[in-house]
Formats: sequence, C-alpha cells, structure tokens
Amino acid sequence: MENIFTDAFFMKKALQEAEIAFEKGEIPVGAVIVIDNKVIARTHNLTELLHDVTAHAEMQAITSAANFIGGKYLKNCTLYVTLEPCQMCAGALYWSQISKIVFGASDENRGFQKMGTQLHPKTQVVSGVLEKECGDLMKAFFKNKR
Ligand SMILES: [Zn+2]
Repeated sequence: MENIFTDAFFMKKALQEAEIAFEKGEIPVGAVIVIDNKVIARTHNLTELLHDVTAHAEMQAITSAANFIGGKYLKNCTLYVTLEPCQMCAGALYWSQISKIVFGASDENRGFQKMGTQLHPKTQVVSGVLEKECGDLMKAFFKNKR
C-alpha cells in the first residue's frame, strides 16, 4: 500500500493553517508539527492579533508541541511550515533540537539561509514542498494589501 503520509500530505495541513491566517489578515504562514505521522501542533502567524512580532507560526508550534510532549526537546518531530523560517524561528528551532524541518516557499530576503543562521546539526532540512501553492498564497496576500 502506498504511504499517504508524505511531506506533501502534511504540508497541505500547514497550508490550511496559512489560509486561516490569510482570512484573518495575517501574513499567511502556517505550520504543523508531526510525530509518528500524528499532528501534535497546528498554528498560524498571529503577529497582528497579538501585537507581537514573535508570534510567528513556528514559534507557537514549538511551544504547542513541547506542551503536548511534556518536554522541551522536539526529538523525532518534523515541522512543516509554508515559508522558510526566519532567523528568530531558526534560532528557536535550534534550541528545540527538532529532527526535521520541511518548508514550502523560500524567503529570499528574510529566510534563515540568506541570513546565515545555523540550525542544530541534527536537524534535517527539506525545502520546496508545495512551493508554488505556499508562495502563491503569500503573493495573493501582498497583492491585496496594495
Ligand atoms: Zn519566524
């Protein structure tokens, strides 16, 4: 039987979160954290609602997943996020020692790769999963703003 639990499968769930953010007028970034093919955290960007520049989807997902696990380290966990993490989130992910990060669209200006931020050496990175869908949502958002 074909394994339905692909990276694209979980990225779609992150995209659903990004769409919720979009509808709220937040920059549309969504994230889920998965362990053993089970979603344990689903979050989206809330910087406008909370008046908090640290309320990125990833930051909330880290806190939510750690609460679920009952421990601070996210070992054997995978983060799916629609946009490449920024350096703040990459820093937080470093501390979480998360096993894997999968992101959709790249952030050429403010992504952690451009900024030169290092992840934990144990963290595996996969990029470009549903890149077009994730990127198109961002483009649609900023087009509406103009
Ligand atoms: Zn961030």
